[in-house]
Amino acid sequence: MILSIDDMVTSLSGVGDKRAEALSELGIKTIRDLLTYYPFRFEDLTTKSIEQIEDNEKVVLEGIAISEGTVSYFGRKRNRLSFRINCDHVIVPVTFFNQPYLKKQIEAGKEIKIFGKWDATRKQLSGIKILSSHSTSSQEAIYHTSKKIRQSTIFQLIKKAWEKYSEVIPEDFPETLRQKYHLMSFKDMIYFMHFPTKDREIEQARYSVIFREFFSYQLKMIWLKKQMKMNRNGQKIDYDVKQLITFFDSLPYELTAAQKRVVNEVCKDLKTEGQMFRLIQGDVGSGKTVVAASAILAAKSAEKQSALMAPTEILATQHKQSLDEMFDKTEINIALLTGSTKRKERNEILEQLSKGEIDCLIGTHALIQEDVLFESLGLVITDEQHRFGVNQRKVLREKGQNPDVLFMTATPIPRTLSITTYGEMDVSIIDEMPLGRKPIKTYWIRPKHFDRMTNFLNNELAKGHQVYVISPLIEESEMMDVENATALYHMYQEILGKKRTVGLLHGKMPAAEKEAIMEKFQRNEIQVLVSTTVIEVGVNVSNATLMIIHDADRFGLAQLHQLRGRVGRGEQESYCILIADPKGEKGAERMQIVSETTDGFVLSQRDLEMRGSGDIFGKKQSGLPEFKVGDIVEDFDILEKARKAAQQLIQTRAFYTDEAYTALRDDLGITEDNVMFLD
Ligand code: ADP
Ligand code: MG
Repeated sequence: MILSIDDMVTSLSGVGDKRAEALSELGIKTIRDLLTYYPFRFEDLTTKSIEQIEDNEKVVLEGIAISEGTVSYFGRKRNRLSFRINCDHVIVPVTFFNQPYLKKQIEAGKEIKIFGKWDATRKQLSGIKILSSHSTSSQEAIYHTSKKIRQSTIFQLIKKAWEKYSEVIPEDFPETLRQKYHLMSFKDMIYFMHFPTKDREIEQARYSVIFREFFSYQLKMIWLKKQMKMNRNGQKIDYDVKQLITFFDSLPYELTAAQKRVVNEVCKDLKTEGQMFRLIQGDVGSGKTVVAASAILAAKSAEKQSALMAPTEILATQHKQSLDEMFDKTEINIALLTGSTKRKERNEILEQLSKGEIDCLIGTHALIQEDVLFESLGLVITDEQHRFGVNQRKVLREKGQNPDVLFMTATPIPRTLSITTYGEMDVSIIDEMPLGRKPIKTYWIRPKHFDRMTNFLNNELAKGHQVYVISPLIEESEMMDVENATALYHMYQEILGKKRTVGLLHGKMPAAEKEAIMEKFQRNEIQVLVSTTVIEVGVNVSNATLMIIHDADRFGLAQLHQLRGRVGRGEQESYCILIADPKGEKGAERMQIVSETTDGFVLSQRDLEMRGSGDIFGKKQSGLPEFKVGDIVEDFDILEKARKAAQQLIQTRAFYTDEAYTALRDDLGITEDNVMFLD
């Protein structure tokens, strides 16, 4: 019979139905599955001499058994196996608890190797397992197991599979790629993942596995994206470039190079038939609104309507104001629709919308209600897209005939995540701030220095500037949130006396009240605004130059950055003061990082590194792909390398033509037909 690594595991002796089922629960059905069932870590099995060992250290001792094992039982289920070994002329007592079956492996006069925990005072070893004495390996692979199957069984089966099948392990990766990226062959990689003897072998094998994982994933993503672009019957928005130029000329500033680049990327998407799915990432204040505006105008010039959706009423209202201002000299009809739009006005808007008299509708969730019908929706823009559920995005998208979709976010998602999570989208990054923007000076103080800070506060107010105060975020209870904010509000009123007006803003207020407060702040009728994080996104009051954040350690780094982006919107020097008493080194380090780093992308990358990808949103929800061995944060270097390699491969087309790539091509389902179709 011809052997193949795609044979079922039952082809190994000792694997019956029961064991096959246990294996299958671990995802192992074939020999290939078994051989690529990699350990998640290695135990260091270097043999040590007794003098070198510390108390409680896990070690491997090697010696000659000088007695047979004796098992003594105590109680119904508990037992102890004891024997002694001669370890370089030191007699060491060894005990194993509740593993009486090990007795048969102990033979007086024979060499034995034991992994266990050293008790330095009694000079004895509490055994964990017996290692085969002829194994030369100094590293032991540790596998994920289940109740139904033991660690050692898995290892034995892998060994058996290796012995029987190693000669028929095919190569899975083109030679040229392996050489270029210094990857082990599939066969070597399997061998060294399970049976390494040196750290360097483990490292090299892991790198080879991770590279392959990431590479295949990236290749699939790029491939899918390409297919999506070609397949979709999107809209071709044939905009009038003259109108765009006139618009840019009318602005009081010149676009930054980054803004220009992103506008070009968006325009290019609009003009093609495929459906646009583009995410614009840009730090707070980088000027995303004007980019959105140019897309809206482009759509209008091609007689298409657009929708701009924001997560809060305050933000939607601000967008309306900004666009009205920007489009001052442009003929374009913009309307605002939110939950608080009056019935009569709403009906009017809906009617105009369905007749195509409104060019752009701005709003909140209210935009995705069923009775909101467009005449010809060509473009959908969602601001702060992470706040909308996937479903809401989908509903909005379906309101038009495959409209182009633009997402905007100021939450700088580290590149690591954006290229993986947002695999479906193209990503544009505005990585440049408008000229003359001053970085916000951020200081971290302990609460005990609050009094000194009030001097600083008074100074800013004396200059006629305004101040935000952010109350701590209390996730457990919205009620406590409000109580806290209210308490701070009273505190600041007391500190500042009658001369200044302090305002309060929190999530439990009715929308109209919130708006009234915001307006007062905007008109400088309120000098100090105490608020919960409802102001997190979008508000634009350029006279506000100071932000004080209480209990800053309760926020994520990216969120702190987002918050402080509310100041520094004008010409004046702006400040952010973090008040926090973090426990432990990590908390202090976090405060330090925010104080020192002004670049949102760098910050969120650091945040991610500190918390790990597992923590960042909870892996399941985040939609991050899971890899068997690789970790997108820890193995970021490899991820980048693999991504570039995949891109290059698609570009050079070697992939489509070279026979060496058959396996990869099969994996992606590339046939002659769809290759032609794609080119
Ligand atoms: P965000 O990316 O946070 O949404 P905005 O679009 O609100 O940023 O822009 C922030 C401020 O910067 C606005 O007041 C806007 O008018 C201004 N701005 C945008 N682009 C430029 C530019 N190229 N030069 C100068 N100011 C700009
Ligand atoms: Mg914005």
